[in-house]
Amino acid sequence: MKIKNFINGTFEDPKSKDWLDNFNPAYGKVYAQTPNSSKKDVDLAVKAAEKAFPSWSHTPFEKRNRILIKISELLEIHLDKFAEAESKDNGKPLSLAKAIDIPRAASNFRFFGNAITQFSSESHDSIGENAINYTLRQPLGVVACISPWNLPLYLFTWKIAPALAAGNCVIAKPSEITPMTAYLLGDICNEAGLPKGVLNIVHGLGTTTGKAIVEHPEIKAISFTGGTATGAEIAKTAAPLFKKLSLELGGKNPNIIFSDCDYNDMLETTVRSSFANQGQICLCGSRIFVEATIYQRFKTDFIEKVKLLKVGHPSQESTDIGAIVSKGHLEKILNYIDIAKTEGEILVGGNQVIIPSFKNGYYLEPTVIEVNSNNCIINQEEIFGPVVTIMPFETEEDVLKMANDTNYGLSATIWTNNLKRTMRLSHQLEAGIVWINTWMLRDLRTPFGGMKASGVGREGGLESLRFFTKTKNVCIKY
Ligand code: NDP
Repeated sequence: MKIKNFINGTFEDPKSKDWLDNFNPAYGKVYAQTPNSSKKDVDLAVKAAEKAFPSWSHTPFEKRNRILIKISELLEIHLDKFAEAESKDNGKPLSLAKAIDIPRAASNFRFFGNAITQFSSESHDSIGENAINYTLRQPLGVVACISPWNLPLYLFTWKIAPALAAGNCVIAKPSEITPMTAYLLGDICNEAGLPKGVLNIVHGLGTTTGKAIVEHPEIKAISFTGGTATGAEIAKTAAPLFKKLSLELGGKNPNIIFSDCDYNDMLETTVRSSFANQGQICLCGSRIFVEATIYQRFKTDFIEKVKLLKVGHPSQESTDIGAIVSKGHLEKILNYIDIAKTEGEILVGGNQVIIPSFKNGYYLEPTVIEVNSNNCIINQEEIFGPVVTIMPFETEEDVLKMANDTNYGLSATIWTNNLKRTMRLSHQLEAGIVWINTWMLRDLRTPFGGMKASGVGREGGLESLRFFTKTKNVCIKY
C-alpha cells in the first residue's frame, strides 16, 4: 500500500518518487510505503495553500465552523477504521485508540470549530484623548503544523484544527513513523467540503520534508510538537526568518506522592500515568517521588499492580501494553535500561518481550527502577517508554528541589489532601501544567505547554487562536 501526499485536495506521489518503508510495530514488518517528500512537493503544497488563502480567510466563521464540525462528525462515523489504522501504525492498544486518540481528534475539530465563533478581541477606550483603540486578530497566511508519532492523529489535529478555524491555510507533516491516519484524514476533509488547498498534508522525514517546510520563506508560523533537540534545530532555522513559533517539547515529569493522599486512587492513576500508551506520552510521570513514611507500602503495591499489566498484541482486548513504536525506539529504551542497571535497581520488568506469534514485534516489559538520587541519567534524560523510577523523600522542600532539578518543565502531578501544601507547591513547581490528585485530565480551553526545555508558547483554547493570528492595533481619534 502506498500512502500519498494530500495537495490541493488530491492525492499525489512525491515528485522525487522517493518512498520510505512504514512498519507495523506489532509484527516488526513493513506494511506500507510513505512519501519522502522533497522541497518540490513542499513548494507545490505552499502554492496551493497561497491560492486558497484569500477565499478561506474571508470565509465567514459560521461556514468554517460547519466544515470543521462536519470533519469531526465524519471522524466519529469512521472511528473504528481510524482506530484500527492508528493502532496498526503506532502499536498502541486498539482499545486506547478507540477510547482516546480518535475521539479526541474529533473533539479537536469540534472544539476549535466552535471556539472561532466565540473568539473576540480587545478594545481600549483612551479616555481624555478622544480616541478608541481596537485590536484586530487576522489569520497569518500559510502556516505549518509538524507533529510526532506518539499520539499521531490526536496531536496532528490539535494543531490543524485551530489553524484552519482561524482562517489560515496549512501545510502539515505527521511523523514519518506514523503517517496513516493523517493520510486517511484527506478524504474526510474533501467529504466535509473543506476547499482544496486549505489543508495540505506532506509526508516525509524531518530532515528532508520537515526541513523544507521550516525553511520555506512563505510559511509564516510553525507549530511543532516533538523532541527538545528537534525543537532547538527548528528554532535555529526559523528565528532569523522571523516566523512565529510554538514549540511543545519533551518532558521528565515528577509524580509527587504524599502520605495523606487518597491512596487507592493515587495507586491506580499512577499505574496509568506511568505506562499508558507504553509510557510514550510527553505528560507521563516518569519520576515518582514517594513520602518516606509510605514508601515501602507503595513500592510493594505498585510492583504488584505493574506485574499484572499484560503486554500483548495491540488488537487484543486484554492488552494493557502494546508494541513500542519502532525498532530504533525500542533499542533506545533498552539502552537506558542498561544504564539503569548501574544507576539503580530494576524492581520489575527491564526485558524485551518475545510474543511467539509476533516474534519480530517490538514489545517491552513495563519497568520500574528504584533510584537513590535524582541526579542520574535515568532521572534526567527523557526515556519516553514504559520505564519509571521511584525514590523516597523526607520533606516537602526536598521533593520540590528534586522535582525542579531537571532541564524539563512540562507537567507535574501532586497527590495530597493538604490544601496549603497544594497551593505552595503548585506555585513553585517549574512546570506548565500541574495536576493535583489526577493526571491527564484535559479541558481543551486551558493553556497547554511547557517551561524550560519543554517548550516555548502555549496552545489550547484561545491561546491556539491567538498563536494562529496576527495582532494589529487600530487607533481612531474622534
Ligand atoms: P521528533 O522531534 O523526532 O519529531 C517530531 C516531528 O518533527 C516529526 O514529524 C519529525 O519527522 C519532525 N522533524 C524531525 N526533524 C526535523 C527538522 N529538522 N525539521 C523539521 N521537522 C523535523 O519527535 P518524535 O516524533 O520522536 O516524538 C517524541 C518526542 O515528542 C518526545 O520528546 C516527546 O516528549 C515529544 N512530545 C511532546 C509533547 C508536548 O506536548 N510537549 C507531546 C508529545 C510528544 P520524522 O518523524 O519524519 O523524523
